Amino acid sequence: MPRPFVCILFAAERIGLSIERDEVAEWGVAFAVTCACGAEARQDAGQWLRDGTISWDSEFSCRACGASMCLGFGADGTPHWVRDPLIARHGTARLRLTDSAAGRVAVLKTLREAWDLTLPQARYMAEQLADPGLSGTLPEVAWLRERLDVRGVSTEITPDSVAAPGPWDPPAAAGRG
Ligand SMILES: [Zn+2]
Repeated sequence: MPRPFVCILFAAERIGLSIERDEVAEWGVAFAVTCACGAEARQDAGQWLRDGTISWDSEFSCRACGASMCLGFGADGTPHWVRDPLIARHGTARLRLTDSAAGRVAVLKTLREAWDLTLPQARYMAEQLADPGLSGTLPEVAWLRERLDVRGVSTEITPDSVAAPGPWDPPAAAGRG
């Protein structure tokens, strides 16, 4: 069952957050869908970083018949049907170490805290982070950047010309569609 009140609350928080702070890692996208009433309606999807957590939501609204509902929200891995339209709209962002040789132990620790990785997996991801970098949405790469920053590891975020695989890609079974 949709839970519209929570969805609206999330949206309101996002608006407030955008006003309060200049640098908010947030992406949104709106696109046209067909409502059950036959009119063209609007669906939006958003993802944002706040207090070290990546959250997402998606809402539907039709001006013709007034239908509106929360399609979903969460903070535990953004599903494909929200993430894909965001990436289609914005591309991906790439996170890369500013100094590829710096903070190797700190990088490995951070990666193993962020994901359930074996040491070889963490080493491989650390190499990717040095070059060519890890790809994700802006809130996703900003999330890892914050965690690396805490350990004194400096990184840069650049727009991706070509979407590369990244550790944030949700499992194929997640979400819907
Ligand atoms: Zn409608």
